[in-house]
Amino acid sequence: MENKTEQKDNLVYFENAKTKKHREYIQLQDHCTLCNTALEVRYLADAGSSTVREEAFCSCCDVRTRNRLHLVN
Ligand SMILES: [Zn+2]
Repeated sequence: MENKTEQKDNLVYFENAKTKKHREYIQLQDHCTLCNTALEVRYLADAGSSTVREEAFCSCCDVRTRNRLHLVN
């Protein structure tokens, strides 16, 4: 089953994806928990407040799964 997943999505990971735990975490972060579609991630930089907004959403379910504000130093 593990090999099946690897063959299905032919992704190149920049993160440490060597262990099963890492891959499960990445899968959880990058895919919709409802329908397993790959999430669309947007980064909106605001120079005025020195922040970057990170948004992840599923185009299939129309659900936003992540909305974070990062302070840029
Ligand atoms: Zn979804």
